[in-house]
Amino acid sequence: MSALTTCPYCGVGCGVKVSVAEQPENGFSSLTGDDSHPANFGRLCVKGSNLKDTLVHEDRLLTPRVDGQDVSWQEATDYIAERIQRVVEQHGPDAFAFYLSGQILTEDYYVANKLAKGFIGTANVDTNSRLCMASAVVGYKRAFGSDTVPCNYEDLEKCDLLIMVGSNAAWTHPILFQRIAAAKAKRPKMKVVVIDPRKTATCDIADLHLAIRPGSDAAIFNFLLAESERRFVTNGEYIKQHTNGFDATLASAQRSAPNAKTVSVHCGVSEEDLERLATWWATTDKTVSFYSQGVNQSSSGVDKCNAIINCHLATGRIGQEGMGPFSITGQPNAMGGREVGGLANQLAAHMDFATPNAIELVQRFWQAPNMAQENGLKAIDMFQAVEQGKIKVLWIMSTNPMVSLPDTEQVRRALEKCELVIVSDCKQSTDTTAYADVLLPALPWSEKDGTVTNSERRISRQRGLLPARGEAKADWWAICQVAGAMGYQSAFSYRSVHDIFREHAALSGFENHGKRDFDISLFSNISEQAYQDLLPIQWPVTKESPNGTARMFTDGRFFTADRKANFIPIDVKEPQIAPDEDWPFVLNTGRVRDQWHTMTRTGDAAILSRHIDQPYVEIHPQDAAALSIADHQLVRLTSLYGEAVLRAKLSDQVLPKNVFVPIHWTRQFASQSVVSSLIPQIVDALSGQPESKHAVVNLQPV
Ligand code: SF4
Repeated sequence: MSALTTCPYCGVGCGVKVSVAEQPENGFSSLTGDDSHPANFGRLCVKGSNLKDTLVHEDRLLTPRVDGQDVSWQEATDYIAERIQRVVEQHGPDAFAFYLSGQILTEDYYVANKLAKGFIGTANVDTNSRLCMASAVVGYKRAFGSDTVPCNYEDLEKCDLLIMVGSNAAWTHPILFQRIAAAKAKRPKMKVVVIDPRKTATCDIADLHLAIRPGSDAAIFNFLLAESERRFVTNGEYIKQHTNGFDATLASAQRSAPNAKTVSVHCGVSEEDLERLATWWATTDKTVSFYSQGVNQSSSGVDKCNAIINCHLATGRIGQEGMGPFSITGQPNAMGGREVGGLANQLAAHMDFATPNAIELVQRFWQAPNMAQENGLKAIDMFQAVEQGKIKVLWIMSTNPMVSLPDTEQVRRALEKCELVIVSDCKQSTDTTAYADVLLPALPWSEKDGTVTNSERRISRQRGLLPARGEAKADWWAICQVAGAMGYQSAFSYRSVHDIFREHAALSGFENHGKRDFDISLFSNISEQAYQDLLPIQWPVTKESPNGTARMFTDGRFFTADRKANFIPIDVKEPQIAPDEDWPFVLNTGRVRDQWHTMTRTGDAAILSRHIDQPYVEIHPQDAAALSIADHQLVRLTSLYGEAVLRAKLSDQVLPKNVFVPIHWTRQFASQSVVSSLIPQIVDALSGQPESKHAVVNLQPV
């Protein structure tokens, strides 16, 4: 019998159709794309198509372990509860922290957030989504008063001009890219512009590629704003009715990007290309700006997001078909985590600690005894606090920070210093599990059950279709066991994910009255069967919008106090560290087509290594010649923070004096290849997102 579920990789959130094998322990007998899912209409990329080969069998963590000894769940969770209680009594609630993941399901996130923020009393709940989309969140909130993605995937097909910034969607969001490519093939007049220092596979469909100097994106959008005014395409009526702060923002854009010549020098692209972009922008109403980690992973990532949004507000190109600023999330459930408050600077259900009356409202809803009162520590600060001994118990869930966080040497020091490191994972030997005092066996995709939300606000079911192996349990269940052992049984007595989803939905609508964007209150009484059968749907889902909401801000009303959107004046900023004599190369990082994150899953499928089978560093031939580096030769990359040895790939797809390294390979797959070890812990001051697209390094042939 076939069943429907959702791909666990990227933020496209494709639907997957599977048939469970006659002997369920043998996995799936077939796996294809789900024709009925509005994200992918049956298509799957190579990662999704090969999910069958990545069901975790080898190296599976099957029993709880404390200090290397197998123990029962009861022993493990009692031990964790007792250690958390002791540390909280001695050092206060902020001595505990969760470090979660965009891989866990919304229901898992909800329960973790509730335990920490309502019952332990700390907002130290952060996630690897901090590395992915935190800047986009703050950008939206500054502009709209809420973390709201206005667009949907259809807008990418319906627009006449698509500006893709800091995204290699051809490799990172392949099904969206295929949809865009198909739309363009059908309507060749549709223009695609790619803004990226690298010439990536995404440029294959581009009418114009602006290979900008790394980090200079904001100047391009300030230029477009200034040009909009100069070319009389700002929408005065929309600006007057629906926005605040236009004049100051325009003045700032005109100062920093007065003309094509200045911007050309700043961004390292030709005046002709800038004029072409400005002309297309000025003459095309249906425009979408599509942006991802290349924008977000920057010390001025939030400003870059707002520079993009400013252009759409100025022209009124938002809230209508084929228009809008559209941030694309990297992970399958980065959005779902945001919905429940799974970031240290959020409270719950798109409320912040600073939202008037929100702490009291959530406290009343949860009947919580120990509400956190202020923001917790964001990912980088959290690991620094662990190293400083301020956080003494750290519970890491479904993520591998020893590979993915910048400056992995600092992460190692932090984990070694921490009094108790708990890791929930389905694998027993990742780079991070090596530092765990307690290991909890988690359910992988195909066994775990719940919901995820993709980049267009679409909630889909990720279904538990295969039997759990060994003693593996859902993350929400493990958290509830610990909560129960701490004396909070009644607040954590969920029998299933269905119970949690209903509570989550009820909180989203609790005393909301249209004040907050995230509202799925129609699901607060959803039956068990309806939850099991839930079809993909875009939030908000309320009495007024029972079939979901395809597009936001159609009426020009936002979630600020006066319902007007905010323009944000943007001063163009440079990346925080510039190359110099000692560190002459700019290091850029990103993904390859067939691998996912730290390869804990995709590394199991031999077929996914056929495309690219080992880590590499892309070097411009001119630089390689100057350093006598031959193609395929091993090269040592050094920075102030660490080193990596990688094979050279000579390519004019990178700019001279720039190198590119993929993020995936771990010490297990290639011992000296962890690119994060080279990257400093520099973050955007507003979002806390690390500047992982811009480090400085030196190169030497080995
Ligand atoms: Fe999975 Fe993303 Fe590929 Fe879709 S595009 S199949 S969600 S990896």
